[in-house]
Amino acid sequence: MRSKIVAGNWKMNKNLAETEALVIELEAKLPNTDAEVMVSPTFVNLASAVSKLQGSKIKVIAQNMHNAESGAYTGEISADMLLNIGIDTVILGHSERRAYFGETDEILATKVKAALAKNMQIMFCFGEELNDRKSDNHFKVVESQLRNALFDLDPSAWSSIILAYEPVWAIGTGETASPEQAQEMHAFIRKTIANAFNNEIAENVSILYGGSVKPGNAKEIFSKPDVDGGLIGGAALVADDFVAIINGI
Ligand code: PEP
Repeated sequence: MRSKIVAGNWKMNKNLAETEALVIELEAKLPNTDAEVMVSPTFVNLASAVSKLQGSKIKVIAQNMHNAESGAYTGEISADMLLNIGIDTVILGHSERRAYFGETDEILATKVKAALAKNMQIMFCFGEELNDRKSDNHFKVVESQLRNALFDLDPSAWSSIILAYEPVWAIGTGETASPEQAQEMHAFIRKTIANAFNNEIAENVSILYGGSVKPGNAKEIFSKPDVDGGLIGGAALVADDFVAIINGI
C-alpha cells in the first residue's frame, strides 16, 4: 500500500531560531491526518529539528547527501552523519541540485546506491524543463531520468523509494502543472515502472507532485488518483500554509 506524504523542502531558508520556531508551530498546528508529514531544514539545523520533534509524527529529512562514506570531500555530508543524528530519509536529485551543482543522472545513481546501502529512504526528484514540455519531449525526459538513476536497482530497493515529480518550469514560479497534467505524468511514471519492474512495485510506490503547490490548489492536485501527496517549497516555510496543504490531502 502506498502512503500519502506531504513533505516540505525548506532549501537554504530559516536560521536556527527560525527553524525551531517553525517546527514548534507546525507540531502545535498539525492536523489529524493519515498522511506522513516531513520537513527538511538545512543541514546545520537538522539535529535541532530532530530534537524539537522527538515523539512527533513530523519526520525530519535531509535535502542532500554525498555518495562517499567519508573522506576528503570538503563541504559534504555523508549518509552515516545523517543517520547518526536520527535522519533516515534524504531528498536526492532536486532540480536545483541538478542545475546549480552539476548533479547528473550518473552522479545521482551513485547517491541512490550509497543511501540504499545504508538502509536510508530516498525521496527521488526528477522532472522536465519548460523546453522539454514545449517540444513534447517531457515523457521521454522523465523516462530517461528514472531509467538512468533507478532502473538497475534490485526490485527490493523500491520499498525505500518515494518519487517526487517536479516539472522544473513549475518550481518557485507560481506556475503549477494542472491537476490533469500532473495526473497524466504520474500515470505515465507508474506505467513506466510497471514495465521496467512489475505492477506491484508500480502500484506501491508513492509519487508526489511538486511545483508551486499552495493552499489554494493542493486539494485538487491531491485528488488525482496517481498523485500521492506533494513536495512543497515556498509554502512549506509558513506554518499555516503548510498545514492547509496537509489538510488538502
Ligand atoms: C521544490 O523546490 O521542491 C518546490 C516544489 O518548490 P515550490 O513549491 O516553491 O515551487
